[in-house]
This record gives sequence, C-alpha cells and structure tokens, in this order.
Amino acid sequence: MTPINTIYSEMGIRETVLSFGNTIEKDLKKCFEKIDEIAEYNQLKVVKAMQDNRVSAGCFNYASGYGYDDQGRDTLEKVYASIFHTESALVRPQITCGTHALALALAANLRPGDELLAPAGKPYDTLEEVIGIRPSNGSLAEYGITYSQVDLLEDGTFDYENIKKAINEKTKMVAIQRSKGYQTRPSFSVEQIGELIAFVKRLKPDLICMVDNCYGEFVETIEPSDVGADMTVGSLIKNPGGGLAPIGGYIAGREDLIDACGYRLTSPGLGREVGASLGIMKDFYQGLFLAPTVAAAALKGAIFAANIYEKLGFPVIPNSTESRHDIIQAVEFGIPEGVIEFCKGIQAAAPVGSYVTPEPWPMPGYDSDVIMAAGAFVQGSSIELSADGPIKPPYAVYFQGGLTWPHAKLGILMSLEYLVRAGIVTL
Ligand SMILES: *Cc1c(COP(=O)(O)O)cnc(C)c1O
Repeated sequence: MTPINTIYSEMGIRETVLSFGNTIEKDLKKCFEKIDEIAEYNQLKVVKAMQDNRVSAGCFNYASGYGYDDQGRDTLEKVYASIFHTESALVRPQITCGTHALALALAANLRPGDELLAPAGKPYDTLEEVIGIRPSNGSLAEYGITYSQVDLLEDGTFDYENIKKAINEKTKMVAIQRSKGYQTRPSFSVEQIGELIAFVKRLKPDLICMVDNCYGEFVETIEPSDVGADMTVGSLIKNPGGGLAPIGGYIAGREDLIDACGYRLTSPGLGREVGASLGIMKDFYQGLFLAPTVAAAALKGAIFAANIYEKLGFPVIPNSTESRHDIIQAVEFGIPEGVIEFCKGIQAAAPVGSYVTPEPWPMPGYDSDVIMAAGAFVQGSSIELSADGPIKPPYAVYFQGGLTWPHAKLGILMSLEYLVRAGIVTL
C-alpha cells in the first residue's frame, strides 16, 4: 500500500505543509466531536421529518407538464416545514438560486408604498440590485418600495436605538442576514437573531421578519424559524441540498406568506398548484438527508482553515476558537496575490477541473472583480469545496464547503502549498 504521505506528495503537497496541517488537526479533536454531536441531532431531525411525512419511493417519480398533485414536490415541502417547524414551505427547482429565493420572498410580500428595513447592516451584494440600493432593472425601488438600513455598532452588536427610530408606519418587512456574506462582521447566532426579531416585534408586532439563512442550515440545532422568523430563506446548492441538489431554493414560514411566494413564483391564481418537479426529487430528498453531515464536514474544514491561517499570523474571521453560526471562513491576506494563490490552491484540489487556473472577473451582481475557485459537480455550488473573494481591500478570501472532511483538508493544505510556493507564506 502506498503510504498516505506519498500520495499527498504526489498530489503536490510538500512534507512541511502536511506536517504543519497534521499538527493543527491533532488539537481539533474535541472541537470536531462537538460538531459531530450537532450533526447527530440534525440527522435525527431530518429522518424524523421524512418519516412523519411518510416519504415513499413514489415521491421520486417523474412529474411533468403543469405538475398538479406532484406528490414528491408537495411532500418535500411538508418535510421542510417539519424541519424548520413552520406552517409551510416552498421548495422548488424553479427557484433558480439563493438570490432568487430572497427576491421572491421580498417581492411577494411587499407592495408599493411599503418599506423594507435592514436592521443589521447591508444585505448580501446581489440583493443590492434586487432592492435597488444600486439602481437596477426591475428592482423593488422601481415598484415604489423604499428601503432603510441601520448598520451594526462598532463592536458588531445591534444598534437598537437607531433601529427603533428607523421603524415607521411604512415599515412592513425586516430582512436579517445570518451569515456574514462578503463582509468581515461576525455571523449572527440564531439566538442573536431571535433577540433582534423579538425587539422589532415588540415595537411593531405585525412586522414580517425574513432571515437570509444561506450557509447557516444545520450548523446549529435550531434555525431562525425557531426564534420567530416569519420566513427563512436559502439556497439548495448550499447546505440543505447536501451537494446533490443541482438547483433550487427554499422559503419556510407562515402559510399566508408562503402562499404569496407561490403566487409570485408562478402566477396569481395558480400559485403553488403548478410547477412540475421533472424528476429532480430523488436528489432533493437524498441531499437533504445528507445535509447535516455535509454541513459538519464543511464546518470542520472552516475551523481547520481558521486554525492554520491564524497560526500563520493572518486575521481570520471567525477566529480559531469562536463559536460557529455558518460554514464560511474568511481569511484576510491584505494583498490581492494572497486571495488569488489561495483560490488557485482550492481549485487544484478539486475533483473536477483541477487543471484550470481561476482568474478574477467582473461577475454579474457584484461591484468589483471576483475570483472564484470551484471544481464542483454542480456549477457554482458552494457547499462543495470552494473559495471566492472580491478583489478589493481588505483582500479577504471567503472559503466554504467540502462535501467530505478529508477533501476539505486536502483543499486547505493545497491552498497553503500555493501560498508557500508564491513566497507569501514561509513555514
Ligand atoms: C450565497 C448567498 C446569497 C445568494 O445566493 P446565490 O445562490 O448565490 O444567488 C445570499 N445571501 C447570502 C448570505 C449568501 O451566502
């Protein structure tokens, strides 16, 4: 049998990089045990939801045309509602991505004259065009829906005083983003989100609270819907798709709000009755089944990366010991070359397209060039091992995913190998 060190070496990872990584990994045993406990809890939650809703082989059948009474689709939506403890859920391949799911939740439940409030800082980059923060064709702003924002305080906590001032008679919905996205603030815990929701609802009980849950699913044992979120929204090519869903988004929440999303997604009058699942259901169910352990693998990768790069003196967010609320790891390199070499390493460790060299490019929806490394089975899937970063200060790379822990480890070691080769890091 070829020794494992030889295989690492054949794959391009030098001995010093491997032994540095192995030393770090040894110290993470306790921490990894905790992650496995959360995965165990969430695995039970998912299996129980599938059992309670009587998932059967018939749910994987091909449905075409209008998709009336599509059993697989309707049952899957019940499974999601059970997992998120909500009245209802919309889970569809016709929701093309996370941004689409969020845009849908907003546009379906806001009307001209309403105001959307972001009480915890700027939302995700692609939502700037959805809302109209950056002028854009078809934005909410074009339909007379206004927007206001309260930034976090210097210490990263909620600015309750200004949130109170920002809520007025027009304020209809509040949008909170769990994950940091392309910001260097910490991600919020579900508990923190619950406190913010309770605060705004005390001031105005009929406010609709929407949480962008992208990257957060199954990282904790509760979800935003457990702490008062009226709509919890995410992408199936992130955590809840478990790497198998090839497309899709979900919105879990209050029945009336989810119905409105259905009418917006398809058409007034038709709503959720139509939308055939086209044979995709087996992957949605099986991906959801795998999602708790896939999220755990990704989380281990994030923590491994944090520990490695912190030890080497780079600012890492979250740091090596902080509690985790999503699977994202940011590493600040301070120079564009750091971001670029890191991404090259992640790409070189991929099962698909490992020979490709990623380059920064002007991606639609983003306001600076972005570099992306993803040798994924599903295009752009960021539950698979991936890294990306906007080429702008502080030149931070955002690393996430890894369907298995051994692959996440390989990717991070390869990123380090590339930084060593470029002379940015010396071991
Ligand atoms: C990925 C992400 C989105 C957008 O999802 P896409 O599938 O890329 O459109 C929105 N919000 C957050 C926090 C995200 O991480």
